Amino acid sequence: MTTDLGAQDLTALLDSARQDYSELAGRGLKLDLTRGKPAPDQLDLSNELLTLPGEGVLKAADGTDTRNYGGLNGLPELRAIFAELLQVPVAQLLASGNSSLELMHDAFVQALLSPLPGAQSRWVDQGPIKFLAPVPGYDRHFSICERFGIEMIPVPMTETGPDMEVVTRLVAADASIKGIWAIPKYSNPTGVTYSDDTVRQLAEMPTAAPDFRIFWDNAYSVHHLTDERVEVADVLALATAAGHADRVFVFGSTSKITFAGAGVGFFGASEANVKWWLGNLSKRSIGPDKVNHLRHAAFLGSAEGVLAHMDKHRALIAPKFQATLRILSEQLDGTGLGTWTEPKGGYFITLEVPEGTASDIVARAAEIGVALTPAGAAHPLGQDPKDSIIRIAPTFPTLENLEAAVLALTTCVKLVGYEQRLKQQ
Ligand code: PMP
Repeated sequence: MTTDLGAQDLTALLDSARQDYSELAGRGLKLDLTRGKPAPDQLDLSNELLTLPGEGVLKAADGTDTRNYGGLNGLPELRAIFAELLQVPVAQLLASGNSSLELMHDAFVQALLSPLPGAQSRWVDQGPIKFLAPVPGYDRHFSICERFGIEMIPVPMTETGPDMEVVTRLVAADASIKGIWAIPKYSNPTGVTYSDDTVRQLAEMPTAAPDFRIFWDNAYSVHHLTDERVEVADVLALATAAGHADRVFVFGSTSKITFAGAGVGFFGASEANVKWWLGNLSKRSIGPDKVNHLRHAAFLGSAEGVLAHMDKHRALIAPKFQATLRILSEQLDGTGLGTWTEPKGGYFITLEVPEGTASDIVARAAEIGVALTPAGAAHPLGQDPKDSIIRIAPTFPTLENLEAAVLALTTCVKLVGYEQRLKQQ
């Protein structure tokens, strides 16, 4: 381990990192590891959508003319496919516009303005309210809370989901805590999948707030990277069995299945929640894009069809994850300068670097043309108290650019890490 090295050896390692860095600086790199976007070849997998539902195919299975207004719940045949994958009874799953994030945003707006089932009043009339934010987590979740002035309480993520000791203690004691963000499978950015026990506790735990909601963002439910199709316990069924049917809002989308910008978002919940949702939604829309629903149903066919399609994504992106992990290992193993996740699915690898170095590493990478997600992004308000988490999104760049970018990143990790260690000596 280089942690045991003396000043002379450290200086040699730092010199070598400096040399690599200035060589990279001279190359005029322009690389981007920031956002978890599908690459163009992944989008190509769904190009058939551009000619579906096909000339003269206008009607849903029940005879609905998909071109017209109406059908607020979304097309039944598409809902049936995703009911299975998102673990929501089809009658309680709605298909909407192209984005699940906008549904999560809507959920906050509606809960602020209209009392939820089980609530005595709307959230906006309840004084300051709070949300639990497992960290590291998804920056866009946290931005929604920030936008509406909802205080976030960070909860540490563990290998099995959020630290349930902390969660259960907090929610039992404080009625102003109205909910928790949850990415149950292949979490953004840790790749963690919630254990059955975590899901059970979330479903069953006593909460001081009668209108507590789990925002169950199952964004990566079918996004496997290995032969193992990891499963998550059925939170809605467990909560319903525990007498908390209204506790769960399920979200999902086809953004990383078909087209990220032209897919379908889903919302699922208890009957009472769905009624509440549709009542509010009916003021906002006369009906979703059912032509898009129809072409998605035709293209994907069934839940099995979705999984077969996801195998094609996996063939394209698993090598990118493997390359990233290989370079991290080649460059950082034994240095004590980083540990990283090895996800079985999803879109991200989390790199943890020594405390106080992440933002410096991201800044140094930017100076040589490698864009990384801002350090701190995985924490509420963009503030990582340890300044140690870097999120790597390997899917979008070409393999060649990805390898160059990860190598450059590891050079910055060494540069900043050895500098810090020398200073501490
Ligand atoms: N949730 C999570 C956890 C995500 O990682 C993302 C995309 N990065 C989204 C939601 C966005 O979903 P959509 O495209 O359906 O709005």
